[in-house]
Amino acid sequence: MSKSFWPEKGLRRTGPRMVILSVLEQVATHVSVPGLVRLTMSVQPTISPSTVYRNVAAMTDAGVLHSVDYAGETLYGLSMTAHHHLICERCGLLWELPAEEFDPVVAHLTARRGFDLSLAGQVLHGRCRRCAIRPLPPVRPGAGAG
Ligand SMILES: [Zn+2]
Ligand SMILES: [Zn+2]
Repeated sequence: MSKSFWPEKGLRRTGPRMVILSVLEQVATHVSVPGLVRLTMSVQPTISPSTVYRNVAAMTDAGVLHSVDYAGETLYGLSMTAHHHLICERCGLLWELPAEEFDPVVAHLTARRGFDLSLAGQVLHGRCRRCAIRPLPPVRPGAGAG
């Protein structure tokens, strides 16, 4: 699994790193380091928190993982597919946006303004579909169920 995005040199495929990878593949989202400690230890209880911290840092340096600032936390995700992040300001949904959906914008900026946009793991804030169609939710007594 996950061959092409792993660097050719400099990062060995150790057991803990493989567990961190498979955990992130399974959850298919971005997780804080404390969250990763919990998840990896549920798979392999012999992994220590410091091992997870160390390996997340090494894998981020090597470009296998990337970090996102999210609500005051730093979350980590796989860099297997190029993507950006859509974050809903209301409900906190974090969504991966495939990078190629941004290609027209990049091409436009290059062609029209000569600006070479470096797009890597951008974070875009806004409102998700569900939150966008709802005006500010009024607090009504009795509302909520159903
Ligand atoms: Zn990401
Ligand atoms: Zn939302």
